[in-house]
Amino acid sequence: MKIDSPEAYIESLRALERRIYLLGERAENPVDHPMIRPAINAMAETYNLGDEPEAGELLFAQSHLTGERISRFTHIHQSADDLVNKVLMQRLLGQRTSTCFQRCVGMDGINALYSVTYECDQEHGTEYHERFKEYLRYIQEENLVVDGAMTDVKGDRGLRPGEQSDPDLFVRVSERRPDGIVLRGAKVHQTGALNSHEILVMPTTAMRENEADYAVSCAVPATAEGITFVLGRQPSDTRKLEGSPLDVGNPTYGSQEAMIIFDDVFVPWERVFMCGEFDQSGKVVERFAAYHRQSYGGCKVGVGDVLIGAAQLAAFYQGVDRVSHVRDKITEMVHLNETLFSCGIACSSRGKATSSGCYLVDVMLANVCKHNVTRFPFEISRLLQDIAGGLVVTMPSQKDFENPEIAPYLEKYLKGSSDVPVMDRIRVLKFIENMTMGCGAAAYLTESIHGAGSPQAQRIMILRQANLEEKVKLAKRLAGIED
Ligand code: SF4
Ligand code: FE
Repeated sequence: MKIDSPEAYIESLRALERRIYLLGERAENPVDHPMIRPAINAMAETYNLGDEPEAGELLFAQSHLTGERISRFTHIHQSADDLVNKVLMQRLLGQRTSTCFQRCVGMDGINALYSVTYECDQEHGTEYHERFKEYLRYIQEENLVVDGAMTDVKGDRGLRPGEQSDPDLFVRVSERRPDGIVLRGAKVHQTGALNSHEILVMPTTAMRENEADYAVSCAVPATAEGITFVLGRQPSDTRKLEGSPLDVGNPTYGSQEAMIIFDDVFVPWERVFMCGEFDQSGKVVERFAAYHRQSYGGCKVGVGDVLIGAAQLAAFYQGVDRVSHVRDKITEMVHLNETLFSCGIACSSRGKATSSGCYLVDVMLANVCKHNVTRFPFEISRLLQDIAGGLVVTMPSQKDFENPEIAPYLEKYLKGSSDVPVMDRIRVLKFIENMTMGCGAAAYLTESIHGAGSPQAQRIMILRQANLEEKVKLAKRLAGIED
């Protein structure tokens, strides 16, 4: 493993020369930019063995290609236990960072493509799988971060990719050359894009025969010519520029979404894993989505653990931790959070091997998992805000607490429990503000709704997997209705 520590990872990013824009300007030094660095710190935790006794077992796996010890984020799941360990790892990292640590998208992308390239070769006589394995070896040996790039900008949602007035609204092959392909289009909501070494492009939907140019999957380095990144904004993000970490709430860690523009990017054939096999594109989307819907039963649960802790702390600091309705609300938060975890574990435990040997989660249960994630974190946040109280949105700033003229008044009048330092109370409330309506909410709430597909995408899959005919038969038999 070439990159073997958080520090080595951060240094590796410094070496990447990329076109990155934020707030209308080119970021020449993204690694030290205060609006980018917290997301890098969160990603760096995936390289950190940490203090938790179980971390080593969860963060690493044995490569089925080389037998070497590799990061689980670069691993192809070889068993249902691997799938379970993935969820446990994600819960652990969610607990450490209380945000999106971004690296799972690439992990889910490589696992989806592993089985689909295998099946594509069987069906079409192509040679994608060996190529893909070569690429995987490289990723595993170097221990790189891969950005899984699926979501296209999509233009008019009522029109198919091939029907848009502008053909570039879905990423496509704009030219086929003897040595490779040329890629044009844009991907949005790209989690961890600025913190990735590689970009793994996948189709965003099932393509049809006349949309073969859109059935493309390939890998490009983040430094490839023609790529531009534009950082997406988050609520209260410029607080990170104020030099007042208290007001940021979770100053060390953050999440990141960016737009990636491919302006005629050349990709050599060695890095092309699908080009025109439109019948395979839907499978990539479904499998990637299933893996990422499983993922949310880990990462968001870890964040939920932190939020439950914050609720308990706020209640204690304000002298209400023994009040029965507060205890009941915390019980409800735990119940919701553990329900999500149950779904994550269930879809993993029932995972099955694909013909490639790579294990796939139970697709129905993974969709149920993510569908609950589109709801429960909102209820957990509501209960958290209920317990925290209105001060969450009326607190003065760090700079007020530092001003000797007013600080003594603030400390006197904002005190909660007499034996708790007032600034501890403020700290936890600032954290809750961030997690429920600041930058932290982008990762915990908006991602919970739309990440890995918006709620309707899961409902479609749930109904498709439901086998209603079988259920009708069950009812008929017991009700004595003739078939
Ligand atoms: Fe990983 Fe969760 Fe972020 Fe997806 S949302 S990349 S699963 S931490
Ligand atoms: Fe996500």
